[in-house]
Amino acid sequence: MAGGNAIRGSRVGAGPMGEAERGDSAPRHRVSYFCAGGHETRPAFALDAQIPESWDCPRCGLPSNTDSENPPPPPKIVPYKTHLAYVKERRSDAEAAAILDEAILALRARRAAGEIIY
Ligand SMILES: [Zn+2]
Repeated sequence: MAGGNAIRGSRVGAGPMGEAERGDSAPRHRVSYFCAGGHETRPAFALDAQIPESWDCPRCGLPSNTDSENPPPPPKIVPYKTHLAYVKERRSDAEAAAILDEAILALRARRAAGEIIY
């Protein structure tokens, strides 16, 4: 996997001195990553860097890999359902109407009895 050695490059002498020593134009190469949205991303890596298998597409956030023919599928997203949507899955419209009628009758009875004033 990527990383695994997060402090790679940290060593005594790293920092401004080390950079000057190595120069700013350390040899790099670009790797093309492709996402399911058809975007190509070409981050640059140092030649001796470990190339990650996947890269998050900066344009759409989907995972991408180096196989242009076979980008990783977008992760399955569980659609957000409202409370009402769940209720509708469990109850038919007829049941809903019956429940509503029942509720209205109960409300009217309570209102008639003076228990509630709305
Ligand atoms: Zn993308």
